[in-house]
Amino acid sequence: MSVKKIAVLTSGGDAPGMNAAIRAVVRTCAYHGLEVMGVYRGYQGMIEGDFKEMSARSVRDIINKGGTILKSARSKDFRTPEGRAIAYKNLTAAGADALVVIGGDGSFTGALAFNKEYNFPVIGIPGTIDNDIYGTDYTLGYDTALNTVIDAIDKIRDTASSHNRLFFIEVMGRDAGHIALNSGIGAGAEEILIPEENIGLPKLLKSLEKSRNSGKTSSLVVVAEGDNIGKNVFELKEYVEEHHPDYDVRVSVLGHMQRGGSPSCFDRVLASRMGVKAVESLIEGKTNCMVGIRNTKMELTPLEKAIKGTSKINMELLRVAEIMAT
Ligand code: ATP
Repeated sequence: MSVKKIAVLTSGGDAPGMNAAIRAVVRTCAYHGLEVMGVYRGYQGMIEGDFKEMSARSVRDIINKGGTILKSARSKDFRTPEGRAIAYKNLTAAGADALVVIGGDGSFTGALAFNKEYNFPVIGIPGTIDNDIYGTDYTLGYDTALNTVIDAIDKIRDTASSHNRLFFIEVMGRDAGHIALNSGIGAGAEEILIPEENIGLPKLLKSLEKSRNSGKTSSLVVVAEGDNIGKNVFELKEYVEEHHPDYDVRVSVLGHMQRGGSPSCFDRVLASRMGVKAVESLIEGKTNCMVGIRNTKMELTPLEKAIKGTSKINMELLRVAEIMAT
């Protein structure tokens, strides 16, 4: 059966570049003569029939905007077969016969469940700043978040070096250290704590001492939310102060600002490529796949694999970080 009308939604945490992806999906549909409708507030909007017909012109002036014009939501109802039944009824009543889901692995799990029950074609686009999805070298929003984070750390560095302070800076990444590792290298951190590696508290102290003995007057330690030492930034501060009362330790939690802002050029181009690939894959009859970029090429990965697999950190970067902290 050929696809005639595609529905597109954003789900889970928002990420810069989602609007550029919506635009790309809508414009690719227009290019191929397909109808397209936006679903507001993710799966919850599917259940509530909150739809909007979209045209090539309706997505003007959004490529540069952060967040998502379709809004996002976490829908408890969609986790139930009853909720998905209503969603299916609404979607087909509106004439949609395929779905593009822009979100994270939770959103893909929902898409897969929906497909299994109704044989409804679905394609995923990975939109999350954490870059923690298997099957793609980069997720939408990750590059922008990295730039936002190093901009913030650069500013913290100014105050750290003016007062000879040690700063613990918490960045996002509950399960993955991509943001911490890359922004830490990019911003010149002395130490980087990530979920994938446990350096241990004594080694952290040693590293800080070494850095002070080598003549550094201030230090930045970038900590991923889910760091493996198991202590949050405030506990780390207490620990260091206990052992080194002479250190002037401060903490900065960057928080939600990391999700915001205008997408970088990289994310805009990636979103455009992913949107084209998603729609053209549906036209080719593909389903249950996620669009990703691997070695600069667009590739499809089965949703099941994308959900179950883990995106590994680049071990070479750990070594680079260590050498750079000399
Ligand atoms: P982020 O990485 O930003 O958290 P995500 O897509 O993983 O994004 P989730 O909140 O995990 O975010 O999932 C988004 C939505 O997908 C949920 O609110 C729910 O509606 C749907 N969903 C998640 N898991 C399932 C599931 N097992 N069955 C059906 N729907 C699900």
